[in-house]
Amino acid sequence: MDCIFCKIIEGSIPSKKVFENDRILAFHDIQPAAPVHILIIPKKHIPTMNDVSDEDAPLIAELFAVARQIANEQGISEAGYRLVNNVNKDGGQVVYHLHIHLLGGTKLSPLLS
Ligand code: C5P
Repeated sequence: MDCIFCKIIEGSIPSKKVFENDRILAFHDIQPAAPVHILIIPKKHIPTMNDVSDEDAPLIAELFAVARQIANEQGISEAGYRLVNNVNKDGGQVVYHLHIHLLGGTKLSPLLS
């Protein structure tokens, strides 16, 4: 499968991992948009949020639990952080393998202003 995140999961493309279990991988974004910029992805290839099914509900819950844990480990929980999921072209999605961006370590500008 020609998916860059699947290749990161299988190890043929390197990444700076911060978390891994049987279902989820998290690694530093190669083009950080904030002092902390980590991607949390399921190992299951799900292209976009539109492709999430009801049976994926526990996996999606675990993605958010991992994001919360990593934010805590990065020391940004109290100051605050942002979780972002881009969907399709208008949402700015570039890699079509579901991922949550964890952004923090600075005061982020308002999304809507
Ligand atoms: O949400 P979107 O699809 O736009 O985000 C993809 C993200 O994946 C980008 O922030 C990009 O820097 C990151 N990326 C990465 N490592 C790669 C390819 C892309 O961290 N090898």
